[in-house]
Amino acid sequence: MTQLQKAKILHRLYLYRALGFDYIKEDISKKETDSFLDKLPNSLSKMRPLVNSCHLCSLAKTRKNIVFGEGNENADLMFIGEGPGANEDAMARPFVGLSGQLLDKIIQNVLELKREDVYIANIVKCRPPNNRVPSLDEVASCRPYIIQQIKAIKPKVIVALGATSYHHLTKEYDVKISQVRGEVFDFENAKLIPTFHPSFLLRNPSAKKQVYHDMLRVKRILS
Ligand code: URA
Repeated sequence: MTQLQKAKILHRLYLYRALGFDYIKEDISKKETDSFLDKLPNSLSKMRPLVNSCHLCSLAKTRKNIVFGEGNENADLMFIGEGPGANEDAMARPFVGLSGQLLDKIIQNVLELKREDVYIANIVKCRPPNNRVPSLDEVASCRPYIIQQIKAIKPKVIVALGATSYHHLTKEYDVKISQVRGEVFDFENAKLIPTFHPSFLLRNPSAKKQVYHDMLRVKRILS
């Protein structure tokens, strides 16, 4: 890393400090609240540059790009996945790989919407190396961003894609996704519906039937 790059990071760290951000502890408690949520700007356009230069966790060292999220900023429906994979990291866009193609089909064929109608984002904005599940301290650093995105977009329905998304949105860590999928929860002034992650569906095509039913429920609530 060059001296200039180091100086830029240091500058950014001072900016975070000035905003009231603090260091993230490795042993951060699962139930710890989002310490800097109230310091974040409340529009997506103001949040984006801040997120795009985030160095709050170690994923900043290995990412190629930050995947902020994309879609209709006034969407009624928001999908929240786990974190970027290799394709998303390369393209700085969420769900553009194989699981993204399946998500696109679900949006078009079941929900009868276009991808541009909905908003798609992830629990963590940077790719965990080798697509491992993001760690608690990585999620703790990133969670305020997704919560603030939800507050800015104000969707009617949020679909949590997979266990990681459901667990970290709700902070209910002790339930299996198979126990809660298809149920409707109140969350951030929206209805939260967890379902299986598209990558799980690619490995377990027989579970598509359940996701189909979950999406019919989403459609009913939206209509
Ligand atoms: N899996 C996710 O959870 N998110 C993406 O953006 C891509 C794959």
